[in-house]
Amino acid sequence: MSERGEKFEVIVVGAGPAGLSCAHLLAKEGVNVAVVERGDFPGSKNVMGGVLYTQPTAEIFPEFWKEAPLERHIVETQAWVLTERAAFKAAHRHEDFDQEPYNAFSVFRARFDKWMASKVREAGALIIPETVVESAIMEDGKVVGVHTGRPDGDLYADVVVAADGVNSLLAQKAGLREEIPPSEAALGVKEVIALPRESIEDRFNLTGDQGATIELYCDASWGMVGTAWIYTNRDSLSIGVGTLVSQLVERGIQPNDMLEHFKSHPMVAPLLEGGETREYLAHLIPEGGLHGMPKLSAHGMLVVGDAAMLVNSMHREGSNLAMTSGKLAAEAILRASQWGEFSAESLAYYDQLLRDTYIYKDLYKYRNMGRFFETHPEFFTLYPDFLNEAAREMLTVDGLPKRNKQRKIFWDAMRRRTPWRMAIDFFKAWRSIA
Ligand SMILES: Cc1cc2nc3c(=O)[nH]c(=O)nc-3n(C[C@H](O)[C@H](O)[C@H](O)COP(=O)(O)OP(=O)(O)OC[C@H]3O[C@@H](n4cnc5c(N)ncnc54)[C@H](O)[C@@H]3O)c2cc1C
Repeated sequence: MSERGEKFEVIVVGAGPAGLSCAHLLAKEGVNVAVVERGDFPGSKNVMGGVLYTQPTAEIFPEFWKEAPLERHIVETQAWVLTERAAFKAAHRHEDFDQEPYNAFSVFRARFDKWMASKVREAGALIIPETVVESAIMEDGKVVGVHTGRPDGDLYADVVVAADGVNSLLAQKAGLREEIPPSEAALGVKEVIALPRESIEDRFNLTGDQGATIELYCDASWGMVGTAWIYTNRDSLSIGVGTLVSQLVERGIQPNDMLEHFKSHPMVAPLLEGGETREYLAHLIPEGGLHGMPKLSAHGMLVVGDAAMLVNSMHREGSNLAMTSGKLAAEAILRASQWGEFSAESLAYYDQLLRDTYIYKDLYKYRNMGRFFETHPEFFTLYPDFLNEAAREMLTVDGLPKRNKQRKIFWDAMRRRTPWRMAIDFFKAWRSIA
């Protein structure tokens, strides 16, 4: 150890999917890398609804499904639009998703992150758990290491990777981003509910290790901007709701009440019946999208994953963006180390790589979506009601001719929203996601 603290080539702060992916690729290339994690072990503090995608994971850990601790492979995805007493449902299932390499898996992060960390260790990285990074060490405007909460715990490196998640104090203190505003963060509350394997397979029409996911909207999040979910594990369900923090505060709703409201819905409760709550967790999800994306690189520092706001909330994707960004950061660092040059310009290669991927392109596509839905609550209240009432009317056999039913549906809707307003609403909604 040198006088001023140990020196590594790279220090990664945070052992989530972003940090571990970055560290794994660097260690495999022989880079001297340390991962600093505040939790007792990697994964101990991490929360996710629970769907992990195969392709981005396999880019870092090829054929991981043959040995990683996974729950079920997802063969069916459902979407439900809920009102107080009804659900309009869509489902998709495909035989391809029932075969290797599979498309996605349900996982528990506490187990999966621990497994990833074991692979990172095998590749040669040092993982330092139970250590909080307090800030970056700056010299002449350059990041040269981190202050940890341990006595004599300063660590030095050519590059520090901020993979410390949604709040990223590290990136904030290095001046790369601001504190996340309540309108750009969702609070996700989650429960793991134990249920016998057979009940899960009966209720969700599954066999063996097949799994299903349901995304639920509108009344599921009590009419606020957000979603709820039900994911099948081997012998439990992961369920939860996520809504914008700003809306929870405005409406004075407690996160736990939101979850109880969801669990008591007449279409949801039967799926959970007889289950026992095993875990209760809560965590923030960055929702700022492209507008909230901070500066991603500086001299001696890169920001990845949730710390960089890389979440696609439209498609429930975060872990994959985290892994891909970790991989791109590793590529940029390897290139910079060939030149021995860790300046902001050199590391900005990471930004360039990111722009060429699905991450930037998808965040760009949905850049106006968050703001649009925040200011158009009718998509979480009025329109789901129209949809479910129209379906109820058309499916009720009561001697009324179908044409009369269509007219009734039309005039009922017109009384609540003019065609002109509806056309504008849907045009703008389409523009915000097109
Ligand atoms: C409720 C919920 C449901 C979600 N569902 C899904 C889903 O189904 N599928 C999906 O793909 N994504 C989902 N996401 C998003 C996904 O979890 C994140 O995008 C992903 O975990 C980001 O990975 P990360 O490595 O950037 O950050 P994290 O996973 O948050 O990891 C950050 C790590 O840094 C550590 N850390 C933080 N500060 C410090 C510090 N100062 N010093 C040392 N260590 C520190 C933390 O302990 C943690 O281990 C969900 C998120 C939430 C909250």
